[in-house]
Amino acid sequence: MRVLVLGSGGREHALARALHRDPAVTALHCAPGNPGTAEIADNHQLDPCDPTAVVELAGRLGIELVVVGPEAVLVAGVGDAVRKAGIPCFGPDKEAARIEASKAFAKEIMAAAGVPTADSRVCETTMQVEEALDAFGAPYVVKDDGLAAGKGVVVTRDRDVAAAHAAACGRVVIEEYLDGPEVSLFALCDGQDAVPLLPAQDFKRAYDDDEGPNTGGMGAYTPLPWAPAGLVDEVMSSVVQPVVDELRRRETPYVGVLYAGLAITSKGVRVIEFNARFGDPETQVVLDRLATPLGVLLQSCAIGGLDPAADLEWRPGSAVTVVVAAEGYPAAPVKGGEITGLDEAAAVDGAYVLHAGTKPGAEGRLVAAGGRVLNVVGTGPDLAAARATAYEAAAKISLPGSHHRTDIARTAAQA
Ligand code: AMP
Repeated sequence: MRVLVLGSGGREHALARALHRDPAVTALHCAPGNPGTAEIADNHQLDPCDPTAVVELAGRLGIELVVVGPEAVLVAGVGDAVRKAGIPCFGPDKEAARIEASKAFAKEIMAAAGVPTADSRVCETTMQVEEALDAFGAPYVVKDDGLAAGKGVVVTRDRDVAAAHAAACGRVVIEEYLDGPEVSLFALCDGQDAVPLLPAQDFKRAYDDDEGPNTGGMGAYTPLPWAPAGLVDEVMSSVVQPVVDELRRRETPYVGVLYAGLAITSKGVRVIEFNARFGDPETQVVLDRLATPLGVLLQSCAIGGLDPAADLEWRPGSAVTVVVAAEGYPAAPVKGGEITGLDEAAAVDGAYVLHAGTKPGAEGRLVAAGGRVLNVVGTGPDLAAARATAYEAAAKISLPGSHHRTDIARTAAQA
């Protein structure tokens, strides 16, 4: 099987790594990829959001499966174009990807499918915003209706901050505050059926103890020793399958990964949001544990033959990923800093490093090229061991001014 992965982050490096392990994958290409994927795949410099360029490349390379990483690629209609060209694609069409691209659309689908979520209102005027803030009370949750790479959400007790965010966004969704720990669950879908991956937890705030601004994600771990028994089955039957059925009923079948962001509240499981692609950095830990060959699995979704009864195989043990971020991330990441110590980090037993925002510098050097620069993955028999390994490896890496959280999986490892 000849496979093309679209995107250039740590998630795509993790996808490429898992695909590389699949003996059925005979050729692996990335566009544009990064210096990490270049070690295991052929990188092609093109804009993955350009449907014509992607179809042309896939045709030229004889690609039999396109795997889409980022949401922007889906929203640009690349899934539609690839499928129209007769090439199997793991990633929904533009219309189905609205489940992520529009929070209001996601709420509409959830209401139609009877999926439990926070009560909410779509607001466009100051008056509507004020009324909604009154109705729900503090803490206030105000979400930009469009795509904002995980940064369009403000959760605050300060009413002025909430109102100012709403005014800056224009159209917003204001909703009930959901109390309780968060879980990310990815389900692989073929338009009709769905199969869950392992649940994971990510850390969205920039600094330790959930301080600081929201980010794309600063770390993740799996499995979740504290998760309620039966959680995955419950989410599949009360959330994932109803959404897949509803989208199919609307003749926009969902092919790809449906990422349910969940809150485990005192009233039960509630959906915080959906994403139409793999989460970054949860994918890095979830795929680390997957023993079932990924290429065959994703292709079965893309061509419509997913076996809903197939139990995926998982390697025992735990995985923890720590994101090394550039100075100034998330507000204003400093690019161009030199990265060293990768070989030393990779030499730590049970650890490896995924590239997220790197590029080749002068004279064979590696430099930071994005906000989230590297993902250090630690594995071990349990979370405490995986966590210790990840941090031991992260300590070997040097990037001037960089920062990472020191509390990824800390509480869960103590449980
Ligand atoms: P989203 O982009 O919708 O995932 O929101 C980003 C983050 O904001 C989530 O991971 C939560 O931590 C937080 N958040 C979003 N919606 C709510 C809510 N209704 N109640 C509490 N926290 C929320």
